[in-house]
Amino acid sequence: MAKPKVAFYWCASCGGCEETVVDLNEDLLAVADAVDIVLWPVALDFKRKDVEALSDGEIAVSFINGAVRTGEQEDMVKLLRRKAGLVVAFGSCAHLGGIPGLANFWTRETIFQRLYKEVPTVENPEGTTPQEKTTIDQGELTLPEFYDTVKTLNQTIPVDYYLPGCPPPPDLIMNAVNAILSGQLPERGAVLAPNKALCDTCPRAETKPEKLSIKEIKRPWQIEIDLEKCFLDQGMICLGPATRSGCGERCIRGNMPCRGCFGPVDGVIDQGATSLSAIVSILGLEDEEQASEEDVKRLLDGVVDPAGTFYRFSLPSSILGRRRMEGIGE
Ligand code: SF4
Ligand code: SF4
Repeated sequence: MAKPKVAFYWCASCGGCEETVVDLNEDLLAVADAVDIVLWPVALDFKRKDVEALSDGEIAVSFINGAVRTGEQEDMVKLLRRKAGLVVAFGSCAHLGGIPGLANFWTRETIFQRLYKEVPTVENPEGTTPQEKTTIDQGELTLPEFYDTVKTLNQTIPVDYYLPGCPPPPDLIMNAVNAILSGQLPERGAVLAPNKALCDTCPRAETKPEKLSIKEIKRPWQIEIDLEKCFLDQGMICLGPATRSGCGERCIRGNMPCRGCFGPVDGVIDQGATSLSAIVSILGLEDEEQASEEDVKRLLDGVVDPAGTFYRFSLPSSILGRRRMEGIGE
């Protein structure tokens, strides 16, 4: 019997999601034995034309990581959608926009200006920036369009399932592969990870006080971190209360607070707003009656880069989506 065909593809991302497939270790052999990989740019030399030659729906599942930032990525994910029975948004960037989605705080012009003209290590006296078409003696060179706005995968094509995480952990990947191979999948649209908050599974949860009150926000490098105690109780911002569990509490076990890469639990529309509200609700001044505006400002100034803290992985999927662009009215 023919094996189910599987494709992996990589859009705007760091490549960590592709690496994590290799982290399956010996399980990778079992996967490679059970399926027929038809596209995996990081590891195998298949081309776009190989995918085009397949019939529509012939690929059983396409695992697509990365946000959608360029015209080439949009074309490829539309092609993979057409050719695949199932599409899985693989990792934070495809799921929520991820770190590349933070670029939505700028426009294409400001990004090009910074990267190609202002960065101190750039030598570019003619101020050249990437062009979609460049004519040279030998003909015309083309580059994909670089969009103004980074989008999540489901803002570009219909997505069947989501594997969260930066990157998704190997056990969740194997669970998803086994579910797909056995046909025992949950309802379409499901996030393939437990639907409870990270605080519920956190090894430090017992030290999280019933009523928390942070008097001063601290960053990890500013204190000697207690290895057992809840980060919030130590004054550090931890997004565990507003983040889905399933990662194995990787950061917490590495003695770092959660930054929210698994996204929210079901039903939460805006992870950034939920995180912000969870943290603000536990900020407290020593004497609130007597507190001056200066005291409040000093406390809030402890949140360095609030947008990058609360929307680190989720800006494109949030209600905000992106910063408003002058003259365009988005
Ligand atoms: S806030 Fe962070 S450290 Fe505290 S219990 Fe939740 S996940 Fe654990
Ligand atoms: S602890 Fe938070 S940021 Fe770290 S891997 Fe888990 S969900 Fe992601």
